Amino acid sequence: MPSVLHQLSAGRQITSMRIALECSKTATSIRQGPAVEAGTGPAWLAHLCPAHTEDLPGWPGAATVGADSRLHCGVVLDYRPTEQVLQSHADLWLTPLTGVVPQALKHFWYDVLDQSNRVVLTRLEKDGGGEDGPLQSLSMMLGMAVQNVSEGNLFQALVPLAYCETVSQKLLPRTGLAPH
Ligand SMILES: [Zn+2]
Repeated sequence: MPSVLHQLSAGRQITSMRIALECSKTATSIRQGPAVEAGTGPAWLAHLCPAHTEDLPGWPGAATVGADSRLHCGVVLDYRPTEQVLQSHADLWLTPLTGVVPQALKHFWYDVLDQSNRVVLTRLEKDGGGEDGPLQSLSMMLGMAVQNVSEGNLFQALVPLAYCETVSQKLLPRTGLAPH
């Protein structure tokens, strides 16, 4: 019998693997994002353990079926087109963290990421860059994303941005993320 994950992915390629929260438990349920278009599979699949079933308010969707893929809690498999994944990064952490709004820059992603990176660099300089590990990691990864986009490779930028998203959890005020 094909696995639950296999059925839900419906043979589609993953655009990005994201870690929306860090938890060492194996996921027991899958939350499904609404389909991008009618007749296609869920936009994303968020894997969650029992303690985190109600978490990740930024990822609203139908909670369902038992996960049998043995992926860690917090792993999100995102099947959306690249630009939609970029917008999701902006909505969930980039804009809250940096104040840079893609709409204001006509979704010109180089400008969005470059300006965000400048905000982070300024904050890093103010903080002295000392022991603030997450901000340092964020700056490096954001710099890689800027580089990818400057080379015209939006898709590749999703890899460092996924790291940024995970790191940003340490920098953003907790919104509904229950401690384990
Ligand atoms: Zn968990």
